[in-house]
Amino acid sequence: MDFSFTESECDLVSLCREFAQKEIAGRAPKAWEEARCPTDLLREMGALGLLGILIPEQWGGIGMSTVGFVAAMEQIGLADQSVAAAWQAHVTIGSLPLYLFGNDAQRERWLRPLAEGRALGAFGLTEPDAGSDVRGIRTRAVRRDGGWLINGQKTFISNAGTDMSFGVTLLARTEATEGQEPAFASFVVEKDTPGFTMGPKMRGIGWRGLDTRDLFFDDVWVGDDHLIGDPAMGLSQFLRTLEVGRISIAALSLSLTQAVLDMATDYARQRVQFGQPISKFQAVQFKLADIATELEASRWLTYRAAYLRDTGEPFLKEASMAKLKASRVAAWAASEAVQIHGGLGYMLETPVARFYCDSKVLEIGEGTNEIQHLVIARTLGC
Ligand SMILES: Cc1cc2nc3c(=O)[nH]c(=O)nc-3n(C[C@H](O)[C@H](O)[C@H](O)COP(=O)(O)OP(=O)(O)OC[C@H]3O[C@@H](n4cnc5c(N)ncnc54)[C@H](O)[C@@H]3O)c2cc1C
Repeated sequence: MDFSFTESECDLVSLCREFAQKEIAGRAPKAWEEARCPTDLLREMGALGLLGILIPEQWGGIGMSTVGFVAAMEQIGLADQSVAAAWQAHVTIGSLPLYLFGNDAQRERWLRPLAEGRALGAFGLTEPDAGSDVRGIRTRAVRRDGGWLINGQKTFISNAGTDMSFGVTLLARTEATEGQEPAFASFVVEKDTPGFTMGPKMRGIGWRGLDTRDLFFDDVWVGDDHLIGDPAMGLSQFLRTLEVGRISIAALSLSLTQAVLDMATDYARQRVQFGQPISKFQAVQFKLADIATELEASRWLTYRAAYLRDTGEPFLKEASMAKLKASRVAAWAASEAVQIHGGLGYMLETPVARFYCDSKVLEIGEGTNEIQHLVIARTLGC
């Protein structure tokens, strides 16, 4: 296992560090207040190739390794978690179903604009009655007029409703053919398709810039050219995509933990109580040392999962372990960092408070941490 970065990974990290600090960090407080998807920044990231970071050059991307993506995320997420959340959702779950399972015509039509940063991708799995229990989805696709008629609702879908969004890749239940179980198939539905509508942007306690909405499909007709891959394999396509999504949430968690560790350390060194900086109190030192240690453990799990993907090895268990550990550490570390800031840490004018609000969702998105436990337990033979 070699975690030293290649030259192109090092260049990417430098590029992302500079862009994050120059272009993203300064705008974060205003972006929080405005609570709108930062498509201006995402377009700029697209111009740098970052929206196609995991897609080969052949399809408009820059063909970076997963290790490089994790390292890039560590820089972007330090500056603003909402920008990083929208970016990662686009790069992984929003784009990968088309790259991994689409045919060349579909890649040319829909993946290339995503990878070149001209459009934003979305992944439609969750429904009001089916979150963790993905097999419980009710959205249906039935054969009609040489294509498919789709009816149903998706909820909490990120990146589908912005001025850059192209539509959504969704999972639907298909009719059972004689003697067979109902199957699940995935489809592209473009945003102006008749019958496809959206609810308003939802308001989360964190990730305030992320555009997350309900999507409604009322007799939406799409042709066979919108069906992605084998119509019996949609569920497996979506689950495989989520494996990469979990590495991405783990990477986002690393960036959050590093951000709150930096803030808490700086604050502890300058805040004076009882005649000395609070960093001189062992109780504060132990908190910071624990966060630094847990961050390092999370980092190794995350880079290892990324490395396994890059080397073509199975990474299901490792991605779930990385997501479980890194998100748990991030949520805990954010709370500890607020504690070190005292009352100031509770105020949304203070950056650490915003990161605290952003931390909770890391334990929920792309499979809750309870579901990560189940995935890991299954790999143990339970
Ligand atoms: C900000 C945000 C963005 C999102 N973006 C997207 C997106 O782009 N696309 C998309 O498809 N989805 C998206 N989601 C949905 C997300 O993936 C789901 O919220 C998540 O998978 C959990 O599903 P649920 O909310 O229905 O919770 P539920 O499945 O109802 O779970 C509720 C609780 O029960 C627990 N639970 C459920 N089953 C079990 C079990 N078997 N054993 C133990 N505990 C269990 C869960 O862990 C959880 O604690 C997003 C969610 C959020 C908050």
